[in-house]
Amino acid sequence: MRPVTVPNADLHCHSVHSDGVLEPAELARRAHGNGVTLWALTDHDEVAGTADAAAAALALGMPFVPGVEISVTWAGRTVHIVGLRVDPANAELAAGLARIREGRAGRAAEIGRRLDARLGISGCLEGALRYALNPGLVSRTHFARFLVDQGHCPTIQSVFDRHLGQGKPANVPGRWASLDQAVAWITGAGGRAVIAHPGRYAYSQLEYGALFDAFREAGGEGIEVVTGSHRPAQFDEYAKVARHYGFLASRGSDFHSPGESRVDLGTLPPLPEDLKPVWYDWLE
Ligand code: AMP
Ligand code: MN
Ligand code: MN
Ligand code: MN
Repeated sequence: MRPVTVPNADLHCHSVHSDGVLEPAELARRAHGNGVTLWALTDHDEVAGTADAAAAALALGMPFVPGVEISVTWAGRTVHIVGLRVDPANAELAAGLARIREGRAGRAAEIGRRLDARLGISGCLEGALRYALNPGLVSRTHFARFLVDQGHCPTIQSVFDRHLGQGKPANVPGRWASLDQAVAWITGAGGRAVIAHPGRYAYSQLEYGALFDAFREAGGEGIEVVTGSHRPAQFDEYAKVARHYGFLASRGSDFHSPGESRVDLGTLPPLPEDLKPVWYDWLE
């Protein structure tokens, strides 16, 4: 019998090209140092870090998969769809991501106005922009870092709890891609679409079922089961979902920053053995 080796796959993390704090090459070294043997960079709505990530991974002898995490609006809420093994040069994918990034600028201005008013200060937008190393991609995380460093809130989490999280006054919903568009861009670019951290959305049971059906119908193939954005109890819950819907399973830390992220690259438990991993045909 051929020995089965399970790769230490980490297929979800963020660099300075979105809301992470490390350069792609620094992430590659950190992943490799932690024993990752199959790695993807999945910046929000952006693939600009791919070339640096690929070069750094190659130099380390660590298999690399180009990826992206696309912001989607579905049934009135934001869902993240990860695309893995996409061609970052694909024109439709690039155009779709560029359109989402453009929409972020106006949203950020409104977030800035609301935070200024709530905190009785000025300059929240300018402050957040100083943290956005990719000026074309301002996210809530950049506002949160600014407010923590300015002493307005003790932790990133507290900024989301008070101001920026779902239902909070400075939460401005993005006008993101549709589910069908995101899946079509990913599959059109040769990639595999995966629902990111499915446990994080505040849908009803009925809506969750409809989301999984719609995603599969659109050509989506996978869900994240073991992710840094799930509580360990949710690993089992979404393993069951993967079995029920016949989804491929993915694993990724969702690492953003050494100081902020609870889960480091490459340190999560393995996927349940009976699940078919999203990388099943990538290492042959
Ligand atoms: P945006 O794309 O601008 O809506 O920002 C989304 C990002 O904010 C996510 O990718 C996370 O990095 C971060 N985020 C969202 N909710 C929270 C939370 N409750 N605590 C900490 N970070 C969060
Ligand atoms: Mn993020
Ligand atoms: Mn996400
Ligand atoms: Mn993420």
